[in-house]
Amino acid sequence: MSKYWSSLVGELKPYVPGEQPKMANLVKLNTNENPFGPSPKVIEAIQNELDDSLRLYPDPECQALKDAIAGHYGVNSKQVFVGNGSDEVLAHIFQGLLKHDKPVLFPDITYSFYPVYCGLYQVESKVIPLTESFEINPEDYKQPNGGIIFPNPNAPTGRYLGLEHVEAIIEANPDSVVVVDEAYVDFGGETAIQLVDRYPNLLVCQTLSKARSLAGLRVGFAVGNEELIEALNRVKDSFNSYPLDRLAIAGAVAAFEDREWFEHCCNGVIRERERLTEKLEAKGFEVLPSRANFVFARHRQKPGADIAAMLRDKGIIVRHFNKPRISDFLRITIGTPGQNNALLKAIGDVFF
Ligand code: PMP
Repeated sequence: MSKYWSSLVGELKPYVPGEQPKMANLVKLNTNENPFGPSPKVIEAIQNELDDSLRLYPDPECQALKDAIAGHYGVNSKQVFVGNGSDEVLAHIFQGLLKHDKPVLFPDITYSFYPVYCGLYQVESKVIPLTESFEINPEDYKQPNGGIIFPNPNAPTGRYLGLEHVEAIIEANPDSVVVVDEAYVDFGGETAIQLVDRYPNLLVCQTLSKARSLAGLRVGFAVGNEELIEALNRVKDSFNSYPLDRLAIAGAVAAFEDREWFEHCCNGVIRERERLTEKLEAKGFEVLPSRANFVFARHRQKPGADIAAMLRDKGIIVRHFNKPRISDFLRITIGTPGQNNALLKAIGDVFF
């Protein structure tokens, strides 16, 4: 970059999202979307919202959605913050809550947006290695820091940290904000939202993109102490007063109301995850124990990049990361039974 703006953005290393190919016949298992689709009640709610009221700005507080979330988790709506996808919620957190004179801690193998936000908002960071078995060790988070963030379950490993260990991290860091990014928690984890009244330094971030199958609607939220939420509201109001449009608010409220659909989707994903894990293991893969809607697996002989390329030739897309320690792994989103069978067949046909 040679123009004047290069000094502003030239050094930024932006996040690279997983591919979103347009070909309808591909088996897309690369970006952890939910194969079951949104609740029919969500579609209906959005359709009902398609009228003349679209000329009006939406509620800047998104109060109906905050009420729905607060009701679902048994908290006060003043403890809820909502944003345009949890990526935006995380951006506000990095901008407003994790900016100190000490480094923010996060795992070395984790959601790759964290280092991107650190670059954008000039937040110092320190990466903490995972254990041999790709787990977060709470002991490693007992060191001076300007905040802590980790996904639980972690991504892309899928490994889950029990709430007692999450609590140990929070208790060891009373002067830091501890952010638990629970994008995948509904697929077998326990949410730390139940701890927010006990720990004023805890902020739990979630999304409607995964268990509620609404990645296209872009809705995320955070739950925490009222003061933390007030701080996030100030950042939001300095950025965009209307984080969610009318359709997103209506759809998201309906998603929280349809508990039955939510449970049906989560149980379906969990069932398929266990089946896929067993079948992959039988084909010579090591599969990390996952509580997410994906598995992280490596074959005992074949390089991950080769398997990903061969699958792609057969119209199946999985995620491969060319990074130290995990370059032999594939992150495979749990699909429908049919998609998972297609994956297993392709693996069987090509290699085994
Ligand atoms: N956190 C983690 C750990 C994720 O994997 C993702 C999805 N890529 C997000 C947050 C962001 O989700 P969204 O912006 O769709 O809410």
